Amino acid sequence: MDKQERDFYQRSPEEQASFLEQTWCNQCQEADLGMTDPIEYEQEGTVIIEGKCKKCGEPVTTEIFGEDEDWD
Ligand SMILES: [Zn+2]
Repeated sequence: MDKQERDFYQRSPEEQASFLEQTWCNQCQEADLGMTDPIEYEQEGTVIIEGKCKKCGEPVTTEIFGEDEDWD
């Protein structure tokens, strides 16, 4: 379960904004509440953005599929 860190802030402002808005919070059981403090990493081929729910502060994660960009 190796995590490979990526830099969320290398994304365009538009992408950052949409990832920060399009969330699902398991705690609130509600979509698009937004997140703060995003970190991005890759785990087993899946890119994950992890932050905190704006509403309750619990961790929320967004998995990104179909991204085959090379980040080296
Ligand atoms: Zn929440």
